[in-house]
This record gives sequence, structure tokens and C-alpha cells, in this order.
Amino acid sequence: MRAFTYSRADTVEDAVRALAGNPDARFVAGGTNLLDLMKADAMRPAHLVDISRLPLDRIEETEDGGLRLGALARNADTAWDERVRSRYPMLSKAILAGASAQLRNMATNGGNLLQRTRCYYFYDSGTPCNKREPGSGCGALTGVNRIHAILGASEHCIAVHPSDLCVALAALEATVRVTGPRGERTIPFAEFHRLPGDTPHIDTTLGADEIVTAIDLPARGFAEHSTYLKVRDRASYAFALVSVAAALEIEGGTIRAARLALGGVAHKPWRDTEAEAMLVGKPAEAASFAAAAQAVLRGAKGHAHNAFKIPLAERAIVRALSEAAGVQTP
Ligand code: SF4
Repeated sequence: MRAFTYSRADTVEDAVRALAGNPDARFVAGGTNLLDLMKADAMRPAHLVDISRLPLDRIEETEDGGLRLGALARNADTAWDERVRSRYPMLSKAILAGASAQLRNMATNGGNLLQRTRCYYFYDSGTPCNKREPGSGCGALTGVNRIHAILGASEHCIAVHPSDLCVALAALEATVRVTGPRGERTIPFAEFHRLPGDTPHIDTTLGADEIVTAIDLPARGFAEHSTYLKVRDRASYAFALVSVAAALEIEGGTIRAARLALGGVAHKPWRDTEAEAMLVGKPAEAASFAAAAQAVLRGAKGHAHNAFKIPLAERAIVRALSEAAGVQTP
């Protein structure tokens, strides 16, 4: 691990000031990903600004009937919050599917959004990786790529975003609140994470001098018909091979609204609004879900070791939508 300097911010303004004009500085809160990356020499910040004591750890009601999740609220506190559990059960389930109890107790909501890919080559500084070192190449393209992307990848990077929480936030149409030297702004969740294109080292649209302060959930939480399904190599403490956040509004057996987002398949939580639109007006049954699943995977492309994810994702979508609808999985 390389030497770095350290300071602590007491206010959001202090934190923003500490980062201004210092491209080698990074915020640290729970530290559950950044410190691992520093130990692996995959990230080399020269200065850490400790934001763990900022007053951003509340979960509060919003005027429009939604909830505001503080960026520094812990993942565990968010998942077990009674309002989250009753109004956004898909989100609670997604958080509890991630990491371990110990990590969820440390990890913050803002940090979860900003965690980096778990691509093996990103962590291995002895191999080429365009995300870690732009222009060096991609070790995963010709290497072991079992956990990698099947949607939205580029010739420069086929990494996937590792979060569970973010998949549910994408399906819920959350909004990210950020603050920087130019003041506050909000970013729709669908625009927060990026596809790799030819700049895979840039994961999000957050400015280098901005801080995430909160995540706003809209009033509509799909509490009656929603679920989060995670398919992984072992039952806990494993990243998703494929995950699905599925939410429906159903009236008299007919789908009135649908949300569908996938994890473990792309560089960002993969939401497909066309497949969602296909479901509206259709009966809540397996045939409708299968057609939507095929639509989601129509542009999917496998690599040497991960083509199995395509049929796996198709089946996972059908199963998640069936669970959400309360109908038997075919
Ligand atoms: Fe790096 Fe992305 Fe290639 Fe992994 S897939 S080695 S993160 S460029």
C-alpha cells in the first residue's frame, strides 16, 4: 500500500473544498471497497478525505411521499428501516442479498453507488486493464471472463457493475442528489452510471469535485408486486452472475405498470424500458414474462466463458416477474 495523507471533513462544504483542485484526493467513508483497491494498488489516491462524520446518515420522508436515503446511512440500517421494508421491499431485499452482514454494517449508500467493478484484472496491477490504466488494454477480453458483461460492453471493457442496491434503485427510478463547487444538482438514476465506451476508467457522471449527499426514492415503491432475485455461485457473500429487480402493478390480472432492471450483466444496472412497455396491458402470466425476457436479451453477446449468462438471465427474468406477480414459475 502506498503512502497517503489524510484529513477529516466536518461539513459538506469542507469536504467539497478539500477535494477542489486535488485530482489525486478521494473521499472515504465505510472504506469497504476503496481500501481493498488501495491495498491491491489498483487505486492510488495521494490524499483521503474522511467524510464519515458528515451529517448525511438520516433516512427521511420527502414532501412528495417518497424517502430520502442519506449517502452515509449504512446499507444495513437502510435495509432494516421499517419504511424501506414496508414501502420498498425490493430495495431491502436487494441490499440484504449483497456482501456480508459485517460489510453491510460498514458500507454506506453513497459508497455502494461508487464501488468499482470486481473484474479480476482490474485488481491485478500486473495485467492490462483500461479501467485501471487507460490505454493499457483489457485482460478480460482474452482471459477468464466468466463474470463479465453480456450487454452494453465495448471493445475496451467488458466489466460489470457489482452492486445489488443499484439494480433496485434503477428499477425504482431513484434520483441521486449531489453537491459540488457549483452548488447542488440531481441526477436521474439511469444517468448516474455509464457504459464503458472508449473511456471505461470513468464509471459515473458524478463530477470529480462533487459529493453524493442522498438518494431520493419516489413515492411509488411497488410494494405489492416486486422482488429481487440474485443468482450467484454460493448462497451468500458472492456477487451476482445475474440479478433481476422486477416490479409490477397489476389490476384484475392485467399489468398496468412494469419495471425491470438487471445486475451482473453490464457496466451499469441494466434497465430495459422497451421490455417494460411490452408488459403493460398484457396478462400477468408466464408467456408475457418470457416475451419480455427475450426482448431484454435480444442484443446480448457472450464471450468465451460467460455465454451461459444469456439463457440464465432470460430464465431469471421470467422467474423474478412470476414471483413479483405471485404466479407459479414455469
Ligand atoms: Fe479492465 Fe474492464 Fe477489461 Fe476488466 S473488463 S480488465 S475492468 S478493461
